[in-house]
Amino acid sequence: MNKQLRNAVIAGNWKMNKTPEETTALINEMKPLVKDADCGVVLCVPFVDLDAALKAAAGSNIKIGAQNCHFEPSGAFTGEVSAPMLKAMGVEYVIIGHSERRTYFGETDVTVNKRTLAALENGLKVIVCVGEYLEQREQGITEELVAMQTKIALNGVSAEQLKNIIIAYEPVWAIGTGKTATAEQAGEVCGVIRKTVGKLYGEDAAKALTVQYGGSMNAKNAEELLAQEDVDGGLIGGASLKAQDFSVIVKAASK
Ligand code: PEP
Repeated sequence: MNKQLRNAVIAGNWKMNKTPEETTALINEMKPLVKDADCGVVLCVPFVDLDAALKAAAGSNIKIGAQNCHFEPSGAFTGEVSAPMLKAMGVEYVIIGHSERRTYFGETDVTVNKRTLAALENGLKVIVCVGEYLEQREQGITEELVAMQTKIALNGVSAEQLKNIIIAYEPVWAIGTGKTATAEQAGEVCGVIRKTVGKLYGEDAAKALTVQYGGSMNAKNAEELLAQEDVDGGLIGGASLKAQDFSVIVKAASK
């Protein structure tokens, strides 16, 4: 992290977990534990939990996000939720392009770009996920792949809109597997993302960009990962469902 240059943000991704009632209880448990955070704290919850999450987090330093949004504002897209709908609820963040959306729901670099643009146009802050599969890492194409995913995701994003973007480097082989990238691997690829953004938007914009690492980040390994200059926070899956563990990660980012 380099807190002189940019904001550190710890975001939880609850995935498909928790009912509204459980959401209220978990956020109420988290609030006192993270209240003194010297970093951004975001919880991205299932659509049906957004209302409960917004109410439980009101007046606290916890910001609420969704885990996806469609690129059209409305229409015949059964099962989808649009960016204006999220904005109207008071949601502040949205994750776009999580590897589980890419792997199981046909999300492509192009739809990630379209969803990102729609979210930004509607005043949401976007956590864009990029990352390689294990075979791609073994083939030695991680850097090119992540640079390409980043460029496509940002196609058409203005320099002003970039200020509302966080990019999360999430190696797919590390998500939910207990296998964490080494701190060096995480730092290296987060650095590649920053360089890619630098080529597109200039040095100052790249320096100010928050780049998170995600992939089995937990209470034990967070400090080492966050010690990397280019790792400005984390996108946390499993550990964000446990108030204590999540708060330890928030504390590691608050140092
Ligand atoms: C994620 O869902 O983005 C994630 C990183 O999950 P986990 O922390 O469980 O690997």
